[in-house]
Amino acid sequence: MKKTFSFDYLKYQSLIELSKEEYKLVMKAKEACGSSYAPYSNYRVGAAALLESGEIITGSNQESEVFPAGVCAERSLLYYYQSHNIGDSIRVIAIASKPDEKECYPCGICRQVIIDTEKRQGLPIKIIMTGADSATVIPSAKYLMPFIFEL
Ligand SMILES: [Zn+2]
Repeated sequence: MKKTFSFDYLKYQSLIELSKEEYKLVMKAKEACGSSYAPYSNYRVGAAALLESGEIITGSNQESEVFPAGVCAERSLLYYYQSHNIGDSIRVIAIASKPDEKECYPCGICRQVIIDTEKRQGLPIKIIMTGADSATVIPSAKYLMPFIFEL
């Protein structure tokens, strides 16, 4: 039996095409790149989450001399969220990077953790993945990875 996995997403050629709320969140993600610690890769990533209450929280990638001990911006954000803001669901996550010639997409581990968070809260998380002046927007984290690991 043949099955198909497909979905619609939005592609913006300029960030000013985003809604005001989305644009503000993207600017917070770009700002969060400033708190990144990335002396090894020189690839700074910032992530920002808009919560149901309107609050915005951010995270950034943090590298270590012990390479696997580093953590991506998305997981830095989500682990902070999970340990401080239980009960206030995430509506949108924006991701940005420096350099930003290409749009920044989450790695496989972060895709799993974002989807885990979405499943846990029972509400879709919109994902905005940005470059210098472009964005790809998907309506739910579940489209990041079709066959996630489940216990
Ligand atoms: Zn990652």
